[in-house]
Amino acid sequence: MKICHVAPELLPVPPTKGGAIERWIRDAAGRLAQRGHELHVISRDHGDGATSMSEGGVHYHFVPIPSRLDAGLPAGAARGAWYYSRVRALVAALAPDVVHHHSRPAGLWISSGRTRSVISLHSMAYGWGFGYRGWDRPLFTRGLQAASRVLCVSDFIRRHTIDRYPSIAAKALTIYNGVDGNTFAPRPTDDAGGKLTVLYVGRVEQRKGVHVIVDAFERVISPRVPAATLKIVGREHLALVSSFGTESAALLKVMADVDPAIPVVFLDTGWLFEETLAYRDTLIARLGLRDVRSIKPAEEALSREDPNRELWFSDPDACCRIRKVEPLARALAPFSAWINGRKRFQGGLRAAIPVVEQDGIRLKFNPFANVIREEIEEIYAAAKLPPHPLVASGFLSVGCMPCTSRSEADEDARAGRWRGRDKTECGIHTTPTS
Ligand code: SF4
Repeated sequence: MKICHVAPELLPVPPTKGGAIERWIRDAAGRLAQRGHELHVISRDHGDGATSMSEGGVHYHFVPIPSRLDAGLPAGAARGAWYYSRVRALVAALAPDVVHHHSRPAGLWISSGRTRSVISLHSMAYGWGFGYRGWDRPLFTRGLQAASRVLCVSDFIRRHTIDRYPSIAAKALTIYNGVDGNTFAPRPTDDAGGKLTVLYVGRVEQRKGVHVIVDAFERVISPRVPAATLKIVGREHLALVSSFGTESAALLKVMADVDPAIPVVFLDTGWLFEETLAYRDTLIARLGLRDVRSIKPAEEALSREDPNRELWFSDPDACCRIRKVEPLARALAPFSAWINGRKRFQGGLRAAIPVVEQDGIRLKFNPFANVIREEIEEIYAAAKLPPHPLVASGFLSVGCMPCTSRSEADEDARAGRWRGRDKTECGIHTTPTS
């Protein structure tokens, strides 16, 4: 079968700027191609002038978006009209057996023509961000009516859509996207010791269906595993802690692609290299980070315990405590979870870190725990991220000036930290923050 998938107008596929939806489209298209279907994906361009490519058995067609339409809310509607009018021409030329649109009923109406079409809905707020009770409701109505199937990612979204558009009830189906009670049914191995924990991290908003997870937990999981717990961490209660060190830009880039307004805590110990402070400012500008909080040690602690700035030499653990551990605990007080960039390949105490761990009353996420060094390098290369200025001078891991030295080629990257001492960690990962 010849299948054409139309990506939303903001999302370049295959992904070059991160993005879960872009990856999902690429992976799903690749799987369908492996089953013998002819797969075409239409998406916006990648800004490099390419209009088409083939990869993994999938044919990609790119619609160039003029820069004047590529930013700001007022340009959004014009961008959509521009994009879908060109999509319509491409679909007509490709003449697929079926065209699949992602969450854009209005785009479906503009571009589908006479082709058999399928639409997927993944949120209550589908469309171009103007809702569905306003001026665009007729477009949505025509788009949904034009579809031969309306695929909803949960029963909740399906019920919601049918409430607003009763005429599509017969062709609306529920497909899995993780917001469905049945997908939370514990496996027999999950209740070992009755310690099942269900974790939701994201927008705590009804339109994203978070209440469906609560409902599923109460109806499906609790009766089977009474001691199970549900933890919900809203994006607004999450902070990322970054040293703006030699590998920090990778995690900051991933976070910024999701939401550049997530708070970033930076511990300015008073002993940092000027190059690190400059790198912080470079990455703030480059990634558009909107809430970087540079946290300094308490003046009272410095004058009481380190009046001569020699504590790093006489008692580095105490120095790290007043310059890193205590300031971090203060900075994280408003948050219920934090993210950091430790990797298992860094070795030492980091070799066995889990992806999620309890940190006192908080959760600590180590999303790069399983990542290998080459993947970090790929993120830097794909996003053209600037290296830390001291990497060129042989510093593979950078912390405070008195406690950082260059690493030799045959050493671990962190070998230059606290060289000559038993100390390998500053304490922020070995001391609970609460
Ligand atoms: S790394 Fe060194 S200078 Fe920095 S806080 Fe720790 S002991 Fe003090």
